[in-house]
Amino acid sequence: MNVLVLKPGREKSLKRRHPWVFSGAIERVVGEPKAGDTVEVRSADGAPLAVAAYSPDSQIRARVWSFDAKATTNAEYFGRKVKQAVALRAALPASKHTNAMRLVHGESDGLPGVIVDRYADVLVVQFLSAGAERWREAILDALVAATSCEAVFERSDAEVRKLEGLAPRVGFARGNRNASRCPITEYGLHFRVDVAEGQKTGFFLDQRENRQRVRELAAGREVLDGFCYTGGFAVAALAGGATKVLALDSSAPALEVARENLAANALDAGRMEFLEADVFAQLRTLRDGAKKYGLIVLDPPKFAPTAAQAKNAARAYKDINLLAFKLLAPGGLLATFSCSGGVGAELFQSIIAGAALDAGVGAKVIGRFHAAADHPVALEFPEGDYLKGLLLLRE
Ligand code: SAH
Repeated sequence: MNVLVLKPGREKSLKRRHPWVFSGAIERVVGEPKAGDTVEVRSADGAPLAVAAYSPDSQIRARVWSFDAKATTNAEYFGRKVKQAVALRAALPASKHTNAMRLVHGESDGLPGVIVDRYADVLVVQFLSAGAERWREAILDALVAATSCEAVFERSDAEVRKLEGLAPRVGFARGNRNASRCPITEYGLHFRVDVAEGQKTGFFLDQRENRQRVRELAAGREVLDGFCYTGGFAVAALAGGATKVLALDSSAPALEVARENLAANALDAGRMEFLEADVFAQLRTLRDGAKKYGLIVLDPPKFAPTAAQAKNAARAYKDINLLAFKLLAPGGLLATFSCSGGVGAELFQSIIAGAALDAGVGAKVIGRFHAAADHPVALEFPEGDYLKGLLLLRE
């Protein structure tokens, strides 16, 4: 087998079971591994540490498949990993309340670069690393075997594939279905998922429990849902008894699905308004009109994928949250989120504190949000903990 020999001292992160080997940690490559090939990783003194997927074009030069350096990567190995991941989800309480779940969450499931979401009887997969790409067929077979889903749609069109030297690939990898409207159910609410053209794999499953929380809080309140996408929080809030909901997004296709999602549920559609707008501008318009809300949800896109963009992201988070505080009625609630890997929970809270201060309102943290349990965070992979949110009560 080909071998990556690390520089002295660079075995430390692997010994803590962090699954990435950066290019700068490698002393030399023994053999001629190709993209995606399995390599053995050894410390400078020759001790075997792991088997990993080689990624010659990426700064993350190898991603660990197993810390058992004797492990063999073959179809059987991936079959086992996929089965484990699927079994973990079947055991979650949420599996009794929805037929849409994340089945494989990359590194945290021991499958770096592999993302799989289940939308009822359709799977959506992303192969985002050279190693994942190398084992694509074996993983697809394993998924079909473990789930009995016959249709698997591939959304390997994420930007990160470029860093791995991989071209995008989109389309059915197995079977066929109407990919633009996959019906799912979440806590009794009905949604349609456009797995072909929607954002990411089509739906934000990580927010499932947080939507449910917002639903519980919405009764009797007038709600503003910024960045509503296909209406997840907005529909949940209306179902929870919101008096009125204004839902904003800049994407016309997302709002088209949002309107269908509203219609798919037995709700009073007259209490919902979907508006195509830029949230930054619309919040200002609402503030100038002295509008007040009892519950505001802000779930913006990833402003800072990495720590390098944290500063600009901080400005954007502060801007929208400052405006939201001004739009909150006394006793109002703000559920505010960040899915930026580059902005940690502590930094996020300090940005929100600055926003409240500058808005001149007092607020307390009365709850914290995370990604749902089908998006587990391996302890040794803190990068997996990207979604954070605060529930704030305005004084
Ligand atoms: N809360 C949603 C997910 C939001 S994803 C859910 O639970 O399903 C972020 C959304 O922000 C996307 O739909 C994107 O179209 C929208 N968006 C990005 N920038 C925007 C802007 N400046 N104004 C309004 N919407 C924006």
